[in-house]
Amino acid sequence: MYISLIQEALTLAGYDPGPVDGIAGPRTVFAIKAFQSDRGLNPDGMVGPLTHAALFSSPQKVLTTPAASCDPKQLSPHFHQNEFRCCCQGRYCNGFPAEMHTALISGLEQIRNSFNRPLIITSGVRCQTRNREVGGIVHSKHLIGHAADCYIPGVSVDTLADAARQAGLGVIIYDDEGFCHLEI
Ligand SMILES: [Zn+2]
Repeated sequence: MYISLIQEALTLAGYDPGPVDGIAGPRTVFAIKAFQSDRGLNPDGMVGPLTHAALFSSPQKVLTTPAASCDPKQLSPHFHQNEFRCCCQGRYCNGFPAEMHTALISGLEQIRNSFNRPLIITSGVRCQTRNREVGGIVHSKHLIGHAADCYIPGVSVDTLADAARQAGLGVIIYDDEGFCHLEI
């Protein structure tokens, strides 16, 4: 595990330790030595405290941001397109008869961050057939990616609804079912 982290850090720093396999083979040792001599450290191929500090000096900046922003289906820091997939399970559509609207996603992101807890999407986009099947209204905003049903575990629907209104979203509370329909 630790070797894998070193290999990742070396790769990010522009060195070639070979595949991230957790094994300190010749390529990994060679990359460590190259890194050490570039940084003015003793090139012994061993990751001691100084080399460790140099490798992981700014790991947050390098390690966390790109992964999320590289996936085009990652709609925002906390929401992935798959969470909004039509619930017909591929029977009537390919899962995305419409794109999720960015204004809805940014509202959801704002709510999610204000509670700092996972916000669970129970229904995102729906195709016509599935919408009829679940008894959705004819011009439901679910059809065009303008609505999502959701809840936050441990947060009441009323509290969630307040936060949604503050985020500028339209709200219908489904008290008995324990979720809110949010829309733009
Ligand atoms: Zn569908």
